[in-house]
Formats: sequence, structure tokens, C-alpha cells
Amino acid sequence: EEKRSVSFVEQLIEEDLAAGKNGGRLQTRFPPEPNGYLHIGHAKAICMDFGAAEKYNGVCNLRFDDTNPSKENNEYVENILHDISWLGFKWGNIYYASDYFQKLWDFAVWMINKGMAYVDEQTSEQIAEQKGTPTTAGTPSPYRDRPVEESLRLFEAMNTPEAVEGSMVLRAKLDMANPNMHFRDPIMYRIIQTPHHRTGTKWHCYPMYDFAHGQSDYFEGVTHSICTLEFVPHRPLYDKFVDFLKEYDGTAEKGLNDFRPRQIEFNRLNLTYTVMSKRKLHTLVDEHLVNGWDDPRMPTLCGMRRRGYSPESIKNFIQSIGYTKFDALNDMALLEAAVRDDLNKKSTRVSAVVDPVKLVITNYPDGQSEEMEAINNPEDETAGTHTITFSKNLWIERADFMEDAPKKFFRLAPGKEVRLKNAYIVKCTGCTKDAEGNIIEIQAEYDADSKSGMPGANRKVKGTLHWVSADHCVKAEVREYDRLFFVENPSADERDFHELLNPDSLHVNNCCYVEKYAATRKPGEYLQFQRIGYFMADPDTTDAAPVFNKTVGLKDAWAK
Ligand code: ATP
Ligand code: MG
Ligand code: MG
Repeated sequence: EEKRSVSFVEQLIEEDLAAGKNGGRLQTRFPPEPNGYLHIGHAKAICMDFGAAEKYNGVCNLRFDDTNPSKENNEYVENILHDISWLGFKWGNIYYASDYFQKLWDFAVWMINKGMAYVDEQTSEQIAEQKGTPTTAGTPSPYRDRPVEESLRLFEAMNTPEAVEGSMVLRAKLDMANPNMHFRDPIMYRIIQTPHHRTGTKWHCYPMYDFAHGQSDYFEGVTHSICTLEFVPHRPLYDKFVDFLKEYDGTAEKGLNDFRPRQIEFNRLNLTYTVMSKRKLHTLVDEHLVNGWDDPRMPTLCGMRRRGYSPESIKNFIQSIGYTKFDALNDMALLEAAVRDDLNKKSTRVSAVVDPVKLVITNYPDGQSEEMEAINNPEDETAGTHTITFSKNLWIERADFMEDAPKKFFRLAPGKEVRLKNAYIVKCTGCTKDAEGNIIEIQAEYDADSKSGMPGANRKVKGTLHWVSADHCVKAEVREYDRLFFVENPSADERDFHELLNPDSLHVNNCCYVEKYAATRKPGEYLQFQRIGYFMADPDTTDAAPVFNKTVGLKDAWAK
């Protein structure tokens, strides 16, 4: 286990545990709204919610915050579960805010009866206009002091199939002059006629976030409700509704006042060259600007998984950026460094040539071949070996040959020697060009005594090249990705985000040659194409051709 530094959130938790608050118990929750796929920002919240529970022997439950049926569905629920498991976390229970619709309704009715809530028949524009500013008081709604019976009757009417969306809302009667704008008679319920993914058409009006979240935390016994900084101004209202709930359920007067969930806020994760807003991610998918939620260019967890990122690399990155009280923009390069770091330990080394040119070993017998041993992972002795076939006709990278090479070019050039990885030392004897002067074939002679592992192999040769046998390889498609946006911070840009998309974020290379062993690797297996980068087989692979995604390039080749 790597040493983790203690975040300010964990410090607060430790203080509460030490003080014996809530019986010295820790219970957190991760509360996704099932209206999209999880992205790496959510992973930051997941690492905190689940990580703290693990660290302090607590429990972290999942709660789907499904209070807006117009955007939610079960497909998202399923994928969220899958992504959290993939990250390696285990939840205690799975809850849904929709499980509490009746309880919340009853509580709202109690508030109306107490004169603490009223039905407002104004439009949302009118309500917004009356909010005032942080320094000037708002204007009370003309419906603010309507009789309790009228509000009760209209609240019932709001929950019928005939209710018209936007025609009425239920508001808490708090304080229209409060400097905290969230106290200026916040909306508790609104009418939505879209059927709910779990409760169908049972309900026609639904609680707002502020009237559902803290209450759900309270119902479940959450001790620490950890969220992001934009909820700081909501915290007093969160606490206020919990006060009301304790009055409602009688715990306050029974002297059971010790239980109270505590909201703690940390900074969101924002990454350079991408967007994290669900609305924008939806647009990218809906307008086919990417190939679905799991497009390897997306900041979604399913996209990163498909691209070949490991869960550990994502978690290590999140650990490295830490949790603070200040919003920041995190460098994508840091994430990529974490990916390289982890894949260096995990990936199986294979041979693949992505820009091929023919290399003929002229003194190697026609039709002969031999199996060379290739180490799967020099960082992991237990990873074993596989074999790669060597023969007379090979593919090597075009960039590994120069006809007129400078002195420091330690690759192939007429008269120069290189080692072919896992095989022999070869000496270049020449090349053949087509009518336009393009090199179409390179010739070399091999030294039969120089096979890797044999005594003659010890001769010092500066360069080592990767190769595949032309007669024993598989043609593959390789997809390379660049930044999805060409500006560092698309969310802060004034231009429409469509204009900021990098038009060259996907490059498809149909003519790569990979060794057979590589061609049989499956999605989920971490690969390093030696000297090129990290790759992973894509589910688009067919019997005709394997398809690979480039996860990230290597920082350094084998160059010494
Ligand atoms: P939206 O508000 O666009 O629907 P959201 O990002 O708030 O989306 P939720 O499903 O409500 O999505 O988020 C679940 C949890 O993940 C919340 O606790 C939220 O604070 C946290 N979260 C979301 N985005 C980030 C982020 N970029 N960094 C850290 N935590 C995040
Ligand atoms: Mg949301
Ligand atoms: Mg949210």
C-alpha cells in the first residue's frame, strides 16, 4: 500500500470520530444522478467517499439521486454500477432518492400545515425576478400568505396527471431578505409529467435537490455528506431542513438530537483540453461528435477503460492532485504520466510496426523460420514469456532507416549494424526504391552467431529495433487519439464549444502489422507496443482485423 497523505476532509472526519460524534460511526454515500455516464470528475468523488469509508472502517452506500425523471434511466444506473466496480470499490447498500418520495411528500405536507411552505402559482421567471440580489431583499410572492388549506389542496393538484408543468411550485417560507439567496423561499417541488424510471407514473411532482439530498442523507444515517465546492452556499439550507426533519420526526424533543449528517465540500476535478459538464458530454454523444459515451477521447470512465487506462492509474492521479478548497484546472499531462507509470508495471510487451517498410535478410534461408523467446514484462518476472516468429522477410518502422544517416543515427543505414529485438544482429547492405524515389525495401545480412542469449550476442551494438515477420504477422487497425479540444480550458472559453473541438482528434491507421500473439489479446489486457506506446485491443476487433487503441505514447524509446 502506498502512503496516502491525509486530506483536510479526512482530518475533519478524524476529529468527528475522535469526538465520538454520531456514536463514532462513519457513513458516507456516493450520490450520482443516473442521467449520464460517470467521468473522471466523479472518480474523484468516488475515491473520497469510498476511500474514507475503507480507511476508517465505515461504510459507503450508493444513492442514485433520481429526482428528475426527464433525464434519467436504468441504462445509466447499470453503467454507473459497472464503472464503480471497475474502479475497485464496494458499496454497502444501493439506495434511490425515489425510495423516499412518500416520506418527503409527508414531510412537505407537515411543513405546509406548519405554515412553513406554500404553493406558488407564478412562473419561474416571475419567481426569479423577485429573488432580489445578495445586498437587496427579495419581493415576497403574492401567494406567500395564502391559507394552509389552499396550499394543501393545490399541492395535491400538483401531483395529478392533469397538472401542467411550470404552472405551480411548492416553496419553503423562509426569509426573502436573507443574504444567502438559497433561503429566499427555495422551491421544494415542481411538476414533471415524464414517467420515472422506477416509480413510473405514480408521481407527478418531484422534490428539488435541496429538498431531497440532506433529507436522504438523514434517512439513511449518513454521517459525512461529502460533495463539491458549489454546494458551500447550500450548506445552511441543508442544515435547516435537517433541523425541520428532526422537529418533524420528534428526535429533537425525545432528546435524540445527537445524530446529524455533516456536509463537507472539496474542489472539483477539471482537466485541460476536455469538458466535464454532463450537458456538454451529452451533446458530444447526441450530435455524433464522438462515437458514443465510451469513445476513447471522452473523459468518461468507460471511455478511459476502452482506451486502455487502468483503474489504478486514475486513482493514483487523483491521489496526486489531492483535495483542497480551491478550484483548479488539472493538467492532462499529469494524468497521462500516471497512466504510463502504472502501465509500465502492468503491460505485456509486444511487437507491432505502425509505419511499415520491408526488411529482407538476404542471407537467411528462404522459407525458414524460427521461434524467438520474448519476455512479456521486464518489470514483472512472473509475467513469463511468449514466442515471436522470425523469418527472412520482416517489417520494420520506416523511421528506423535512413539512406544518408548522420553519425548519431543508431538505427539502420547502409553499412550500419543494429540488433533486432529478441533475434539477431543485422548489417544493412542497401535499399531498393521505386520510380519516385520512395524506399520500398531494405536489405540486410544477419550474423547467425548473434542470436539473443548466445555467446556471440554480447557484441556491442548501439541500436535495437522492433520488427515483425511479414509472413507471420497480422494486419491491424490502430486508432490514435489527440486532445478532444484544441484549447486548454474549453469551459472558460467564450466561443461555443463546438468551435473548440480539435478536428484531428482521431487518426485511423489501417496498415499496421502486429505479431500473432498481439493479435489474440483481448480488450482489458494492457499492452505495450515496444518503442511506440501503450495500446489496448478494441471491442471493434473482427475476425478480419484486430483493432487497437493507442492509450498513450511512451515517454522514451529504448534510446540510451
Ligand atoms: P450535473 O450536475 O451536470 O448533472 P454532476 O457532475 O453534478 O452532473 P452527479 O451525478 O450529480 O453529477 O454527481 C455525483 C457526485 O459526483 C456529486 O457528489 C458531485 O459533486 C460529484 N462530482 C461530479 N463532478 C465532479 C468533478 N468534476 N469533480 C469532483 N466531483 C464531482
Ligand atoms: Mg446532477
Ligand atoms: Mg450534481
